Order: sequence, then structure tokens, then C-alpha cells
Amino acid sequence: MLIQVAEGVLTHQSNFLQTNAVVVQGRAGVLLIDPGVTGDEMTCLANDLRELGQPVVAGFSTHPHWDHLLWHARLGTAPRYGTARCAATVRDRLSDAGAKARVARIIPPDIAEHVPLDRLGRITGLPAETARIPWDGPRARIIEHQAHAPGHAALLIEERGVLVAGDMLSDVLIPMLDLNDTADQIEDHLAALRLLEGVAGDVDVFIPGHGSVGGGDQIPARIEQDRAYVHALRDADVLSDPRLGPSAYGRDWLPGVHERQLQHLARSRARDGTPG
Ligand SMILES: [Zn+2]
Repeated sequence: MLIQVAEGVLTHQSNFLQTNAVVVQGRAGVLLIDPGVTGDEMTCLANDLRELGQPVVAGFSTHPHWDHLLWHARLGTAPRYGTARCAATVRDRLSDAGAKARVARIIPPDIAEHVPLDRLGRITGLPAETARIPWDGPRARIIEHQAHAPGHAALLIEERGVLVAGDMLSDVLIPMLDLNDTADQIEDHLAALRLLEGVAGDVDVFIPGHGSVGGGDQIPARIEQDRAYVHALRDADVLSDPRLGPSAYGRDWLPGVHERQLQHLARSRARDGTPG
């Protein structure tokens, strides 16, 4: 079911981790951002769009993680984009023959057979420094940063006052660092939060990749919550984060993610010889 969250902007939420697909209406069809997770959900979305008489004319993946790289035949053959760095990461990780089997192994078993991987990651990288999605619709400004995954981008739909945040500012998931990355993920995450903070004044509605859609006035609190988490991680401080509290169904693995992030940072501190 599509829910309108702003003029010309609709969302479709998956049962899997409250993953939000975002539809932006343009002149001749829609821009579809992070289409969804299961085949049934994407088919449902495709049917809703057909009823509205709105074909998908462009796609976008906010970042190179499997749950943001899916597609379904019923959504058509529009060009699908990501940032150059996102597309390069997809190429690196998904071009070998064993890639889909690897991805299939990390999908939770209860939904794995319902996730169509045949069109996984078929995205075109937009040249670095591309400011907006090339499409015939409301301007969608690309806000690229390196938190959570390489080439992660939020989109600011300026005329609609909508921020599509990707996997940031979630009320259900803690910030997850890209532990494959050798760069300073703590600083990358804090820098990304500053970038989002910088546009928050132009936002009436924001849509996280997972979790509840919120009004612009809730952005400072979501940013503060993410920042407090990242600071606590950095300083190995005591943490009380409601997202790690008594777990909702399907998120009992989050404390494990938190533990791994703590251990990873403790190891890199030990390696760098900086006092903990
Ligand atoms: Zn995600």
C-alpha cells in the first residue's frame, strides 16, 4: 500500500525491517528509490503504480547493500542509478559468479526465498560531482557521504521539502559503521550527520531507509540520537539507546551488531596505539 507523505511523494513499507521504498512523481512517471525487499511487495508496488498510471522512469539505490539494490521485472526497465562510488562497490562485490550465493546467505532465512536476486545491483553510476538525479521530475539533490556504506547518498527533493535519508536517522536501527572500510568510520559518520544537519532546515518530511517517517522538526532529535550513539562507540562509553532496548520482532540481532562495532573499534585503537 502506497502512503502519501508529501505532495507527489509516496512510500511503500516492507515488513522486513520497516524498509521504506520511496516514489517521487514526475511529469511522465515516477522516480523509485530503494524499491523494496520481497517479490510480493515489489509486485504490489508495481500494481499500485500501474493503477495510478505512473510508470517507473528512473530508479535510485541509496547505497550498495542488498536490501537497497533489488528490483522486480514488473517495475520495468527504467535506468537505475547510484553514486559512482556506490556503483563501483556493487561492481567489486557482485560481479563474480559466487556473488548472488553470498548475498543469499546473508538474507534472513525466513524471507530468503521471497527475495528476487535476478536484478540485484544493476545500477549505473552517476559521474562523481553529479548534483541531481537526471530525470524529468522535481529536482532530487544528491547528498553523498561515506557513512554506513561507500557512496551512500541521501536525496533532497527540494520542491517537496522531502529528505530521503537512506540508512541514517532511523528510529529502529542503530548507526551501523562500514567495518570493511579502512577509513575513519566514526569521523565519516559524524561528517554525514553534519551534512544532513545542514539541510534539515529545508526539510518538512524525512524518510529513513528503515523505520518511521518523521516531520522535519524531528530531525534534530534523530541526529542527536545517532550522534550520541557514535560518540559512545568512539569513547567506549556507557550507552543507553532505546533502539538496543527490549527487541522488537526481527531485530534481536542488533545488540550483536553493537558488540561487533565495539570490538572492531577496540581492535583498531589497540593497533593505532591511541589510548582507549
Ligand atoms: Zn538498509
